[in-house]
Amino acid sequence: MKRIAILLGAILVAACLASFSLGTKKITVVIDAAHGGKDFGATYETVTEKELVAAISAKVKALNDDADIELHFTRLSDEFVDLSERAKIINTIKPDLVLSLHVDANKNAWASGMGIIVAKEHADKAKSRAYADQLSGLFAKNHGIKVKDVSEGPFFILKNSAAPALIVELGYLSNENDRQRLTDEKQQDAMAQTLLEFISELK
Ligand SMILES: [Zn+2]
Repeated sequence: MKRIAILLGAILVAACLASFSLGTKKITVVIDAAHGGKDFGATYETVTEKELVAAISAKVKALNDDADIELHFTRLSDEFVDLSERAKIINTIKPDLVLSLHVDANKNAWASGMGIIVAKEHADKAKSRAYADQLSGLFAKNHGIKVKDVSEGPFFILKNSAAPALIVELGYLSNENDRQRLTDEKQQDAMAQTLLEFISELK
């Protein structure tokens, strides 16, 4: 009886540790650096969301040395790309996953941490949620930051991307600790590395 209990416990632990994987060798991901050009996104003094997410996207591109990870970007420079154009780019590429990178701002300076949003209604909602949970876990582990529960939202990119898609809010510009993490070059590298680690886990 005791043995069975231990065995069941081991199976439970294994099930909890199991991560979502496509079971394929190759993976194609679109990194969508939000905003750009005339659209600054969230701002704090001279710091802008559009620049932070473009910087982190560029780092993901630079750090990727895995030939089995094919990355595409909706923008890399500071240009305005409207949402329907982004959806068109995504649906032409037909990736396995879309990561739309944002940073948040809140009138309450204490609001902090990361958040991930998936589409309210989508054929691949369950898959998106599984990806979101996996990415949350990795950010919590690697960066020791608070990751809110995965939420659902009616956002254009999520709704109009045929592939599973996540809006990843990397932190709050309005919070001092988050702002420090988001603007620090080394921390940006570390976050880009975590995004790549996550993508690699999905193969
Ligand atoms: Zn944004």
